[in-house]
Amino acid sequence: MRVVRGIAVSGGYGLGPAFHVSAHVPTVQERHIEPGQVRTEIQSFNRALQRAREDLKAISQRGLRHLERRVLEIFDAQLLMLDDREMYHQVTQAIRNEHVSAEWGYHRQVQLALDVLAKSQDEYLRQMEGDIRAVSRRVVQYLQGLKHLTLAELTTPSVLLADRLTPADLVQLPRDKVLAIATRGGSRTDHTSLVARSLGIPAVVGARDDLQPDRRGQRVLVDAENGRVFFSPGRTELALYRAYTERVVESRRRAEEVVGQEARTSDGHRIHMHANLELLQEAEFAKSCGAEGIGLFRTEFLFISAARLPDEKTQTDAYTALAEHFAPHTVTLRVYDLGGDKLFYSYRTEDEPNPAMGWRAVRLLLDRPALFRTQLRAMYKTAAQVGNVQIMFPMVSSLDEWKRILAFARRVREELEQEGITPAKRVPLGVMVEIPALALEADRVAPHCDFFSVGTNDLIQYLLAVDRQNPLVIERFDSFHPAVWRMLHNLAVTAHKHDIPISICGDLASDLRALPLLVGVGFDELSTVPGAIPQIKDVIGDFSREEAEALAREVLALHTGKEILSLVKKTWRRWGRRSRRKADR
Ligand code: PEP
Ligand code: MG
Repeated sequence: MRVVRGIAVSGGYGLGPAFHVSAHVPTVQERHIEPGQVRTEIQSFNRALQRAREDLKAISQRGLRHLERRVLEIFDAQLLMLDDREMYHQVTQAIRNEHVSAEWGYHRQVQLALDVLAKSQDEYLRQMEGDIRAVSRRVVQYLQGLKHLTLAELTTPSVLLADRLTPADLVQLPRDKVLAIATRGGSRTDHTSLVARSLGIPAVVGARDDLQPDRRGQRVLVDAENGRVFFSPGRTELALYRAYTERVVESRRRAEEVVGQEARTSDGHRIHMHANLELLQEAEFAKSCGAEGIGLFRTEFLFISAARLPDEKTQTDAYTALAEHFAPHTVTLRVYDLGGDKLFYSYRTEDEPNPAMGWRAVRLLLDRPALFRTQLRAMYKTAAQVGNVQIMFPMVSSLDEWKRILAFARRVREELEQEGITPAKRVPLGVMVEIPALALEADRVAPHCDFFSVGTNDLIQYLLAVDRQNPLVIERFDSFHPAVWRMLHNLAVTAHKHDIPISICGDLASDLRALPLLVGVGFDELSTVPGAIPQIKDVIGDFSREEAEALAREVLALHTGKEILSLVKKTWRRWGRRSRRKADR
C-alpha cells in the first residue's frame, strides 16, 4: 500500500478504480502567415473565440441546476476573459501588422498577462491565473483544430487522479462517474476546490507525491477527511471507509427527522445553531438545514465577482435582504475580512511577505476610513430598517484597537442619526476572537463589547503558528492541542462572568468529535456551514451537559493532543453504543 498526503478540501471518502489524466497543454510555436492570409486568420481567431464561448455557455447551462451561483460565476468570469476587447485588439493588430499566426499572437498576449500575475502573491490574482490558462487552452485547441479535451473516456465510476483539474473539467464530468478526486496542484481556496465542495465530491488537493497509479484501474481510496490517498488500501483503511459510508446513510436518514427541532443535550440544555454564510443565495438552504439565524456572514465573499467594492446602497440592499429572510432571528454581519488568504483584494499596494499576518481585516479598514465608513453605514441602515442585525469585527488584536473601532462606529452612527436614520434598538457590536493576544485580554475587552465570537480557524493557526493552507505543516494544525482547549475554556468562563454571549464560528464548531467538549467548556452557541447543522442537532442528544462538563474537566487535565483526541473518541464510542441500545429498545 502506498499513501500520498495532501490537503483535504471537501470531506468524505471515495473508493474505486484509479483513472489518471495527464495534464494536456497544447504547445504553441511561433508561426508567420502570408500577408494575403490576414483576413482568414482573423476569421479563424473569431471562430475559435466563438466556439470557446459556446463551450463555456454550455457548461454553465449544464451546471445551472446543481451548482451554486458563485461557482457559475467562475464561468461567467471566463466568458468575460474571452470578450476582453484589449486582448482582442492586440491579437488582431499583431496578425495584421506583424503577420503572426492567430495562435502565436494570442499565446503571446496570454503569456504577457500571466507574467504579470505570476509575480503576484495575491490569492485572488493567482486564481485568475488558473482561469486564464483554462480559457486560453480552450481557444488554442480550437485554433489548432483540436477538440477541447474532455474527460469523456470516464465511463465507469472511478477515482479521478490528475496533476491539475480546472473547474470546467469538474463540471463537465458526469457526477455519478466521479467517486473522488485527488490532484497534485491546487489549494483549499481555489476555484476547483470550491466546485468540488459545491458538487459534494470528496477531494484531496496539493498532493505531496506522484499520483500516477501502478497500473490502470488500481484500487484507490481518497480520504478527504484527513487528506490522504491510499493506493491499494489495506484492511484497516477499507474498514474505516465502510464504517464511514454506513454512518453517512444512517445520519442522512436521522438528520431529516431533526431538522426542525431545537438542538438539546439529553438533559435538555439548549444549544443555539447558527449558520455561516458567504452568499445570499445560500440563505434558503441554511434555513432548510434548520439554522436559527446567521452567526457569521462573510461580507467579502458577497462581492467576489464584482470589479470593485460595492457602494452603500448595494450593500444595504444585500444585508437587508438577508436580515429580512431570517427575521426575527439574528443575522451577524461581519465587516470585510479582506487581505490574508481572502479573495478580492485590490487595495494592497505592494506584495506582502506574509499576508496572513499582514494588512488585513480591521487593520485595513481602520487605515481606509472611507471603505469602513461605507460598510458600517450600510449595516446601520439595515439595522434601522430590519432590526435583527448585529455587527462583528474580525482580527481585533487589542483593547486599544477595539476602542478605536468603537469610536469609529459611534461616529458613523451619530452621522446617520443626524440624517434621521436611527435603529429602533441598540445594534450589538461584537469582537471576533481569533488572535491569541485578544484571547488573553478577553477579561479586559468583555466589559466593552456585546458579544464574542471565536474564529478558531485563525485562532488555532496563530496560537500554534501553523499555516492552515500549507500542506507541509497541515498535520500540525491540531484542534485538540491542549493549549487550544485551555484557551477556549478561559474564553467561555470570561464571557459568562461578564454576562455576554459567546459563540464559535470557526470550522471546529462543525467537528462532531469536538462537540461535547465545546458544550463542556461552556459554549452554547455554534455557527457552522449550513450542511453540518442537522447532524449536530441529531447527535447532541447522545450526551448530557453534565457528561460534557465531566469530559471537559478530564480533557483540561491532559497534556497532549493525542491523549485528548483518544479520550474524546473513546467517550463517543461509549455514548454511541448507549444510544444504539436505546434505539433498539
Ligand atoms: C475563523 O478564522 O475561524 C473564521 C471563522 O474566519 P475566516 O475562516 O473567515 O477567517
Ligand atoms: Mg478568521
